[in-house]
Amino acid sequence: MTLIARSVARQLSLTASRRSTTNVLCGATWKSYATISQANAPAAEKLKVNGDRLWDDIHYTAQWSAPSPGGVTRLCADENDKKVRDWFRDQVQAMGADYKVNATGTQIALFEGEDNSIPPIAMGSHLDTVATGGRFDGPLGVIGGLEVLRSMKEQGIKTRAPLVLFNWTNEEGARFFPLLGSSIVYAGRSTVDAAHASQSNDHSGITLGSELAKIGYVGDGPNTFQDFPISAHFEIHVEQATSLEKAGKPVGWVEGWQGMTWYSLQLKGDNGHANTYPMYGRRDALVGAGKIIAELDKLAYEHDGRTTVTNILSGPWGACNIQSDTKLSFCLMHWEAEGLNAMGKDIEARIKGITSQHGLETTIQRDIHLLPGDFWPDAVDCVRRACGDKGMPSRTGTGHDSTMTQLLVPTAMVFARAKDGISHSPNEWTDKDDCTESALALGKAVLNFDELMKTKTDFEMPAHVAAERQALSAGRG
Ligand SMILES: [Zn+2]
Repeated sequence: MTLIARSVARQLSLTASRRSTTNVLCGATWKSYATISQANAPAAEKLKVNGDRLWDDIHYTAQWSAPSPGGVTRLCADENDKKVRDWFRDQVQAMGADYKVNATGTQIALFEGEDNSIPPIAMGSHLDTVATGGRFDGPLGVIGGLEVLRSMKEQGIKTRAPLVLFNWTNEEGARFFPLLGSSIVYAGRSTVDAAHASQSNDHSGITLGSELAKIGYVGDGPNTFQDFPISAHFEIHVEQATSLEKAGKPVGWVEGWQGMTWYSLQLKGDNGHANTYPMYGRRDALVGAGKIIAELDKLAYEHDGRTTVTNILSGPWGACNIQSDTKLSFCLMHWEAEGLNAMGKDIEARIKGITSQHGLETTIQRDIHLLPGDFWPDAVDCVRRACGDKGMPSRTGTGHDSTMTQLLVPTAMVFARAKDGISHSPNEWTDKDDCTESALALGKAVLNFDELMKTKTDFEMPAHVAAERQALSAGRG
């Protein structure tokens, strides 16, 4: 706790000294790339990682899966998630970590640096997967971080700042909605209580809180950035797209992400006999939902975005019941903030039209609204130098735990080349050499940031973070 308390004090002073810049971000980023050094920190130049060990651990941990055709199905807080968590705990404890689990089940492995008054530099990702997922989405980030820590220890590379490795809970949201279930609490966008109350998508009524308790993963570790500040966050992930593959590059530095809005929608109609009730005047919630789903598909093409409907629940059960209660979740994605906001307005208007036509009562909730944005330039630059000529810039099409930590601190991601861009599928694949390169880039990026913090504490915020903080402080004032 002493370490954490000291970190808090330090972080508060860092935050206070940070200021936004008025530069247009793209111009500033481009200029700084053009003028700054290509070199890595001396410690980063020395670092090597053990690609065999990383590869073996990725495939060893894939055994903890529900039956899955070649990939991994390890849903958050299920019995396989417990097994992989126990394995992770054993690995970091064997390395001497100060290990904690927080209330939302996130595993936190803290390793001392030379100056433990500095908040740790974080690495992290997730060991949960979607149903019929792959072996790499998530595990590569956590096990890649583990490999970096093991290699640094073996090679006697000590950082000035402490290091911390997170296994974030419920990143995927596959079993419990919403996704990013623990990092969203860490970022102050949700609460422990709300995360615990997240309902199972299989409609069994169980919650994330009860299932975490069942596997023994509700801990007393720190839940929020205020409780446990970090200096930066770095994450490896498979690209889930084909730009690296097309360019023949094993790794990439991730400059930003596509925006996303997640909605929960509940439609209430009226009960009746499905065979005898006249068609005219029915209040069938599932018919309304069906029309909304068709509109969502059109919406994506009309706005040049993406949309997906998931988690449909309708009732009452039975062959002859008009459906009086239908719930669904859907996601809107767009690369531009204006596009994402326009899609949101548009679909809300269409839902209103459809539900009034069918006489349905509507409850609509925006669970996550993340505008597209850019990661912190200094952190991206640490990854860029780490990748060197093996890498290229890329952008992610989806949310990650890093899209939560970027709200708080310098954050950037390393991409690993993904075969055919496939993910959330048993066919997800990243070659062994590419996994190795990505772990090496992660380790070098962390060491570059550790070096950078020796001379710099005032990091340029991305425009959206600066704008948001300004709005928050104006609201408080
Ligand atoms: Zn992932």
